[in-house]
Amino acid sequence: MSTETGDNGPEAVIGLEIHVQLATMSKMFCADPAEYGRPPNSAVCPVCLGLPGALPVPNAKAVELGIRAALGLHCEVHERSVFARKHYFYPDTPKGYQITQYDPPLASKGYLDVPDPDGYAISRVGIRRVHLEEDSGKLLHERLPGRTGIDLNRAGIPLLEIVTEPELRSPRQARAFLDRLKRALEYMRVSDCNMEEGSLRVDANISLQDREGVAPAGRTELKNLNSFRNVERALRFEIDRHAGIRSSGGEVTSETMLWDDAAAETRGMRSKEAAPDYRYLPEPDIPPLVVASERIEGIRGTLPEMPWARCARLVSDLGVSAEHAHVLTASRELADYYEAVVAASAEPGDAANWVLGEVLAALKSEGCGLESFPVRPADLAGMLDLVASGRLSRAASRDVFGRMVETGKPAAQILGDDGMLRIRDEDAVRGWIDAVLAEHSGEVRRYREGENQLFDFFMGRVMRRSGGKADPDRVRPLLLEALEES
Ligand code: ADP
Ligand code: MG
Repeated sequence: MSTETGDNGPEAVIGLEIHVQLATMSKMFCADPAEYGRPPNSAVCPVCLGLPGALPVPNAKAVELGIRAALGLHCEVHERSVFARKHYFYPDTPKGYQITQYDPPLASKGYLDVPDPDGYAISRVGIRRVHLEEDSGKLLHERLPGRTGIDLNRAGIPLLEIVTEPELRSPRQARAFLDRLKRALEYMRVSDCNMEEGSLRVDANISLQDREGVAPAGRTELKNLNSFRNVERALRFEIDRHAGIRSSGGEVTSETMLWDDAAAETRGMRSKEAAPDYRYLPEPDIPPLVVASERIEGIRGTLPEMPWARCARLVSDLGVSAEHAHVLTASRELADYYEAVVAASAEPGDAANWVLGEVLAALKSEGCGLESFPVRPADLAGMLDLVASGRLSRAASRDVFGRMVETGKPAAQILGDDGMLRIRDEDAVRGWIDAVLAEHSGEVRRYREGENQLFDFFMGRVMRRSGGKADPDRVRPLLLEALEES
């Protein structure tokens, strides 16, 4: 495989550690709310403050979500896993340790298939482990002038850590992996994956390895990557930096580095040699987590159709283009909306154009989500049916759709209210034709003597007579019939 370091140079070896906040109402080991954006320190109790004597109790919902995610990533879920204390001192960690899972973790040995950047081949990326843990609090550097505050609302919020094998080969592939993973987690409703709110955080590990299988040189761990774009940029930067050090005969030291977005570069934070010794110890206050295999299988039954499977099905069953299917399955809500439009008997290609065009544009300009979007799928299908049957012109359909968004009314009702519905009724159309022919007997005679170009003249008169409401596709054959009659 070719890599971005060139065909003959060293190959990039990348492994990711991803933390996601699980979508629970309460924290991992106590009943405090896990909600984002509360006033500082308004969701704390003796358990998450680490007060003496407080007893942590694992959150059953977090366990369920963790298992669902692990199953969706094809992991083996362990019927018995263990919580452990990972010791380190930092002011945002009131207990002096973090409760996490060490050995055995909740799940291990999974994988995620990721399309290669060329879009054709698929690479299987191993998932080494998936485990539950609690989040730390947050230091507030900007809130109090000249001082640092601590907000412990986040301390104890449930996290799922997903650790990949070092099997990614390029920054672009790492980004493609993250895009897929995020979509999968959202479909499984495991996390909202909101990166601005820190619900999904990524650390990236990178080293360069020589082809001949020589052990990889120094490895750096990159932190502070607040978007997938920055993961890709930081990895690119590191590959160049490692390559530069090596080509001038130096050695890359293993260290943890921070990505500085403004400067677009990485900066050393601490060396791996000086990495803290966490002294993992089994958590004495929480018995091993035991999950019966029937419960695991029950949770497997709640897995949704995964985004990539859904995308492939839209292509194979509905004939949607691969590009459209990819965007339509960007979120489960959008895919549900689209499929509901098709289920209400819209033509799949038309429905895709409308959903990806007008619907997405309207959502954006209205600033709302699909759950509160006024145009229901059946109403969009109804409007498309009016267009397909010729009762509504394509040109007018955009205006009508705009009115549907404004009023939440179905198209037929809007057209009825405005008298815009195209008239196809045979008697009405014949009535206009007869009146026009009677008024223009001279032109009728000339037409019948061979001046066929007069047809457009009659068409125009009939349309005008109907006040523009007649359906021209209906008028044309009836007019021809009337003119050909002798
Ligand atoms: P540590 O214990 O030092 O944190 P782990 O073995 O737990 O290291 O791996 C942590 C992450 O680093 C994993 O995502 C793994 O894929 C990645 N990783 C391990 N070795 C390498 C390497 N040589 N180059 C790049 N990433 C690596
Ligand atoms: Mg690690």
